[in-house]
Amino acid sequence: MKQKPNNNEKQLSNDLVALFLFMLSYKDDKEFKKLLILNKQHREELKDYIGKIYLKYIKNNELNMTYKDINKEIKKLESKLGNIGNDLRKQEDIILSYLLYRTCKDSYYKSIDIVGKYKDNISNVKVSDKTIKKTVDKKIDGKNNTQRNKVNKEKFINKIKNDIKKELKGKKSIEIINETIDKDFNSAVNVSDRLINNEIGRVFNGALMQGYRDIGIKKVRWLSVLDKNTCSECASLDNEVFNIDDAPIPIDDTHINCKCILVGMV
Ligand SMILES: [Zn+2]
Repeated sequence: MKQKPNNNEKQLSNDLVALFLFMLSYKDDKEFKKLLILNKQHREELKDYIGKIYLKYIKNNELNMTYKDINKEIKKLESKLGNIGNDLRKQEDIILSYLLYRTCKDSYYKSIDIVGKYKDNISNVKVSDKTIKKTVDKKIDGKNNTQRNKVNKEKFINKIKNDIKKELKGKKSIEIINETIDKDFNSAVNVSDRLINNEIGRVFNGALMQGYRDIGIKKVRWLSVLDKNTCSECASLDNEVFNIDDAPIPIDDTHINCKCILVGMV
C-alpha cells in the first residue's frame, strides 16, 4: 500500500539518507587510498616489464617476435601477473572485511539513535559480533564478497594477459600496449569500487532491518530517492509500505548498486 509520509516521517527519511551517504563515503579511507596506490604501482611496474620485453625483441624499429617467443614471454609474465592479482586482492579483502564490519555495526547503532528521535520508549538493544559477521558474509548468487573479489581479480589478470598477448602478436607499438594496460587497470578500480559500494549498501540495509526488528518496528516504507538511475521496479516501489517481514530488501531483491532504503514507520 502506498502512503505519503507526514513531516515527521519525511524528517526521519532525510536523517537515514544522510547516514547512508556518510557510510558510502569511503573514498577518503586510508585503506581505499592504499588500494589505489597499489593499483598505480603495479600498473607502472607492468609497463616497465613489458617495455623490457620490447627492447629485447625490437629490430629496425619493428617488433620481431615469433609465436614461440611470445608464448615463452607470456609464460614468464603469468607469475608476475599472479603476484599483482594477489596483492590487489589482499588489499581489497582488508577493505571489505574491516569497512563492512564497521558499516554494519555503526549503521545499526546510529540508525537506532536516529529512530529514537522520532519514537518513544526504545529499549536498549545490542547487536552481536556473530550477527554482524553473518550480515557481512552473506552470499549473493552463491558468493560472499571475498569470493567475488577473488573471481574479479582472476578475470582482471586473464584479461590483461590476453590483451598483451594479442597486441604482441599484432606487433602493436609500445604506446598502444601501455594504453591497454592503463585501461585494464582503470577498469579494475571501477570493478573494486562497484563491489565495495554494493556491499556497503547491502550491509547498511541488513543492519537497518536488524535494528528495526530489535526495537519492535512493525512496518517499513520504501524510499528510492537516492537511486539516481532508478529502474522502473524501484521507482514503482517508492513510498510503498510493507509489514517488516514481507518487505523486499534493496539489492537482495532488486539490483546491484540499488540505492533504495527502507525507512522504519514510527
Ligand atoms: Zn533501487
